[in-house]
Amino acid sequence: MSKKIVVIGGGPGGYVAAIQAAHLGASVTVIEKNKLGGTCLNAGCIPTKVLLHSAELYSAIKNEGPEIGIFADNIRFDWQAILNRKTAVVSQLVDGVEGLLRSHGIEKIVAEGRVVAPNIVEADGEKIEADAIIIATGSEPAMPPIPGLDLEGVITSDGALSLDSLPKRVAIAGGGVIGVEFASVFASFGVAVTVVEMLPRILPNVDAEIAAILRASLEAKGVVFHTAAKLNGVAQSDGELKLNISDGREEIDLTVDKLLVATGRRPCVKGLGLEEIGVEMARGRPVVNGRLETSVRRVYAIGDCASKIMLAHVASREGEVAAENIMGRDVVMDYKTVPSAIYTSPAVSSVGLSEEDARDAGYRVRVGRFPLMANGKSLIAGDMNGLIKIVSEEKYDEVLGLHIVGGPATDMIGEGGLALRLEATLDEIVTTVHAHPTVQEAVAEAALATFGKAIHLPKR
Ligand SMILES: Cc1cc2nc3c(=O)[nH]c(=O)nc-3n(C[C@H](O)[C@H](O)[C@H](O)COP(=O)(O)OP(=O)(O)OC[C@H]3O[C@@H](n4cnc5c(N)ncnc54)[C@H](O)[C@@H]3O)c2cc1C
Repeated sequence: MSKKIVVIGGGPGGYVAAIQAAHLGASVTVIEKNKLGGTCLNAGCIPTKVLLHSAELYSAIKNEGPEIGIFADNIRFDWQAILNRKTAVVSQLVDGVEGLLRSHGIEKIVAEGRVVAPNIVEADGEKIEADAIIIATGSEPAMPPIPGLDLEGVITSDGALSLDSLPKRVAIAGGGVIGVEFASVFASFGVAVTVVEMLPRILPNVDAEIAAILRASLEAKGVVFHTAAKLNGVAQSDGELKLNISDGREEIDLTVDKLLVATGRRPCVKGLGLEEIGVEMARGRPVVNGRLETSVRRVYAIGDCASKIMLAHVASREGEVAAENIMGRDVVMDYKTVPSAIYTSPAVSSVGLSEEDARDAGYRVRVGRFPLMANGKSLIAGDMNGLIKIVSEEKYDEVLGLHIVGGPATDMIGEGGLALRLEATLDEIVTTVHAHPTVQEAVAEAALATFGKAIHLPKR
């Protein structure tokens, strides 16, 4: 007899888990209180990248057009048209997920789900029995306890995706991925952007050298960064927001039209009934093991609501792992190969250990660097401000991390993930023939540069 699985939440964690379970023969019900696709499709990955795409094209034609022989007179953008396109792209993808679930015979219930027993979920007044339950309820923006964050004009990423018009001046609290992506969009459209970050540098999880290159690029576009700085409070006067910031040396007063708070997200598990059925929680999240099992048998938790790495592809892979384990396989989640992609301009991507993390882990670290300035395809694209950095260890020449800023960084990081998965050596990267002309060639060059032997760099 086929197993019955109930998934609560239809984001990239939940819907992927449902499809994978259906592939393996389960009878699946997905309970989603809002729209399929979750944060990622409706208020995260997809809509932000639609805005970034328009922002990049606009900025490239405006600023770099003449250099490549393209002259567009009176170039302008229509914010409403960009928002309409965003809505259309999101709808198409959400409809696509709807169609996928239908094609697999997965039942969808539009309602708030709640676990009432380890094998029973309640939704819309109905009790559904299950052999296993997957909690995939995602996350929501968390507001830090700073005075004034309830004022009009203070927004989260949700609000930033549906602004009626573009403000002239924006402050962004938080120099993490979401903060810098919005900084990049706003700056490309000519908005004056100030980023306030509490830690000494932006993107603390990214290799320091790569993050510094991104910061310099965004500064060149006019973005102002206050790092090691604290937003003390916000007040409102004459429709403007007055921010008070201290950066350890001085107090800064800043006047803006909008303040985007991008300081973090918290798991959506309130009222789900997890504690009541005995699920062990830590810091507001269900505790899971590598198989994505909670402390209660046959109850699994995946994605943003449970994972420390809040990324769509992590949620999806965890969904597959949970579904496979329920269906009798024995799979453990591998976080070593999880890539990170940051859709700024220039873009950033990384996988594996940063140079500093590799040193902290006790490796005898070697680094190969190849600047995109020396790469033909980057020159063709007029996109030379970038770097490929490959981190390896001395004993076996094993690749430990790949870090990219510039070019099609986010589309190139898969090579690094596969290298880590296969425990590849630098030589295996170098002797894999890379197509020409591509930016990807620069990955092999970076590996060669470890030994001072890059073909397209002058002899040291
Ligand atoms: C602005 C922004 C940009 C981002 N960009 C990227 C990116 O480029 N790449 C990337 O990998 N990640 C990105 N992320 C993160 C990504 O969106 C999340 O990691 C991902 O959506 C997590 O998937 P999930 O399935 O765990 O949760 P979610 O996508 O949040 O889905 C959870 C779903 O559960 C539903 N739900 C909650 N409670 C209940 C309930 N009780 N009953 C029924 N349904 C319920 C919700 O309505 C929601 O649809 C971004 C996030 C934001 C905010």
